[in-house]
Amino acid sequence: MQSQKELFISHELFSKDPFEIVSNPIFQRIYEIYDKVSQYIREFLNKNGFLEFKSILLGPVTDPGIRGAKQITVDYYGKEYKIMSSAILYKQFLAAARKKSGKEGKIYFFADNLRLEPLETASMDRHLVEFIQVDLEIADADHFDAMKIAEELLFYVISRVKENEKELKMIWEFFQPYWESRGLKQRTELKLPKLPLKRYTHKEAVDILKNTIQENPNYFEQIKRLFKIEPKKISYTTEIHWEYEWLISSINEEPFFIYDYPRGARGFYDREYPDKPGILMDFDLIYPEGYGEAASGAAREYEINKVIQRMKETGERLEKYKWYLEFLKNHGIPTAGFGIGLERLVRYICALPSIYLTLPYPKIPGIYNL
Ligand code: AMP
Ligand code: MG
Repeated sequence: MQSQKELFISHELFSKDPFEIVSNPIFQRIYEIYDKVSQYIREFLNKNGFLEFKSILLGPVTDPGIRGAKQITVDYYGKEYKIMSSAILYKQFLAAARKKSGKEGKIYFFADNLRLEPLETASMDRHLVEFIQVDLEIADADHFDAMKIAEELLFYVISRVKENEKELKMIWEFFQPYWESRGLKQRTELKLPKLPLKRYTHKEAVDILKNTIQENPNYFEQIKRLFKIEPKKISYTTEIHWEYEWLISSINEEPFFIYDYPRGARGFYDREYPDKPGILMDFDLIYPEGYGEAASGAAREYEINKVIQRMKETGERLEKYKWYLEFLKNHGIPTAGFGIGLERLVRYICALPSIYLTLPYPKIPGIYNL
């Protein structure tokens, strides 16, 4: 017989009565933290001059750069529309419009995103099909300005949740058997990150990973065992695959940034350095202790010719982006921003075995629970 605790931390949770789970006091505590984290994010952004907009849910196009996830299409009065995988193009538009109106040009959404993530992500513990991305954009800014806001936001939220660390401790203790069973350390305190956070270029991050694996080839076995996948090759010219993102996250004890990704790694909207061809003005914020990616951001490509060239390279159908290209042609200005996943942030703060434990109706790739 599995204990109740063991049941809560395995996918067998879903064979139980959902009401029993959602009404469990530990789960209710997690939902309270979720609520508080949302409030603290709004507090921080509003203090810093950001205006919240309701996010858009449907449009003729959505973000195509979603690392192998599928978009969801709906029939919108006879036309194919997409449910937002990310409302990135709309926030660029709104930040520019707000700036044009004479204001600071800082905007954000609590955006509901839907992505049919690849099946292998189900074992990564950080992918949901439905999640919230706090998505912000700043006019007249670049990726370094956005990184500064990202680290200050994380610092603020952690300092606010730490005011009530007793609540967190009860959650950490509940999941202790899980971490022990995996031979991993259990969280006993939530450290306030030291700012500025470390910043590695993509090239430096790949070098760190190559050296780490060379020094300790056991990591390959650990990746196979933990995620039930065959590790891919590490490369200077591609995205950092999930398993390596986990590895670099595991060997760090503080959140950190990776910036300057290669051009092939990201969508057409991440701007290429005008003087460093092939390198994008973008970044990821990564949690330590194996929790992986927290946020992705960039300075946006706003020069229409460059956007069209990038769209053609990745096979986008330009006519679907009519409104966006019109906007860039007539009103495009430099903007930068990022999106931070709310459930991943709550998972990190609560030190939860998996992201799905943050929500009462979690959708895990490939699992028909609700
Ligand atoms: P992306 O544009 O793919 O980098 O997404 C922005 C942020 O949203 C990521 O950094 C994550 O924190 C979060 N995110 C992306 N995909 C998922 C997912 N499938 N489940 C939960 N959070 C996600
Ligand atoms: Mg990302």
